[in-house]
Amino acid sequence: MSSKKETENDSSQSEGDEMAGASSVSAPSSSNVIPKDEHTSESSDDEGGSTIEMLRRYMVQKLGLHENDDAEEPKPKILDDVSIQGVINFIKDGKCKKIITMAGAGISTSSGIPDFRSPGSGLYDNLAKYNLPHPTAIFEIGFFRENPKPFFALAKELYPGVFKPTPCHYFLKLLNEKGLLLRHYTQNIDTLERVAGLPGEKLIEAHGTFHTSHCLGCRKSFEQEWVKEHVFSDSVPKCDECNNIVKPDIVFFGENLPHRFYISSQQDFPQCDLLIIMGSSLTVEPFASLIEQVPKNCPRLLINRTKAGQRSSVMAFLGMGSGLDFDAEGNTRDVAWLGDCDDGCLELARGLGWEGELRKLIADGHAGIDTSKTLCKDGDNNTKQKNKNVKL
Ligand SMILES: [Zn+2]
Repeated sequence: MSSKKETENDSSQSEGDEMAGASSVSAPSSSNVIPKDEHTSESSDDEGGSTIEMLRRYMVQKLGLHENDDAEEPKPKILDDVSIQGVINFIKDGKCKKIITMAGAGISTSSGIPDFRSPGSGLYDNLAKYNLPHPTAIFEIGFFRENPKPFFALAKELYPGVFKPTPCHYFLKLLNEKGLLLRHYTQNIDTLERVAGLPGEKLIEAHGTFHTSHCLGCRKSFEQEWVKEHVFSDSVPKCDECNNIVKPDIVFFGENLPHRFYISSQQDFPQCDLLIIMGSSLTVEPFASLIEQVPKNCPRLLINRTKAGQRSSVMAFLGMGSGLDFDAEGNTRDVAWLGDCDDGCLELARGLGWEGELRKLIADGHAGIDTSKTLCKDGDNNTKQKNKNVKL
């Protein structure tokens, strides 16, 4: 949802810069050869290895890149066991009080909200009925100004209030109630964190939210309920001051992320003592790069169906770059737990002795939502409970 295009441009730009830099690098002359590493054996058996090491160091030096400070030093052991149990022990031992959680679409899929990228069931694959020039046009601000109807039609399907928070959302609330959550960063626009009861000050909605809306002309702010009435009556909300379109504060392609995202992330990540990433493929910038902003001794747990955000093998070979290092030799901080987010959170809760509390939060939260829906007596099909597949 964010400025993926811009990011891709940025990365191609930086790649171009690197290429330009590399092409100006002269070949190693005899006077410019880097001395062999003192620790490297000079025996002929090891010649291949030392040549590779020399090449690595040469490239690091010539590209003007810094090696990892700890590349040559024994790494301190961070988790006693590189597994979800190791993370549970880390929390139980009181080694973290400032946990940051990061979430993508994967934490909401069990509520029934379609994932944006899953083939077949993904949102982009189900947009044919809107006759868009291309699927992502629905989130492009230029297209929206010309033709806002497809977005509002989609908004009606996705609108907050239609879906219930998942066990994963309630786990976040529980982490906060335990006084362990520094902040939750979400890529999701479904507001389910708010519905689950996570306070606004603990929440950074990196890609915006339906919670607030603004006029595209005069920036006048509008209430969620007022916008919702328009969305559900199939009319485009227009500003009563200047007649421009009123748009929910969701970050479209070509729009900046909320100011608060940048301010908070700079303050929060350097003091994070445990990072938990859930249900994100970590492909959309600048969200994905947040994982690099935590201290080097901060454990990072990924709960996702597949491994994501890994450092490339080329960069690992060069002893630099960034990313999660699940499979690296000597890794004691990066853990991949593969499976559904709800199951991962339940396993954490079980290990921490919080399972009963979590299940009560879920039951009470869902019961409260059902009660308020009954009181509203809203007969619209869209408000029917859709999350039948939430596992309790
Ligand atoms: Zn206006």
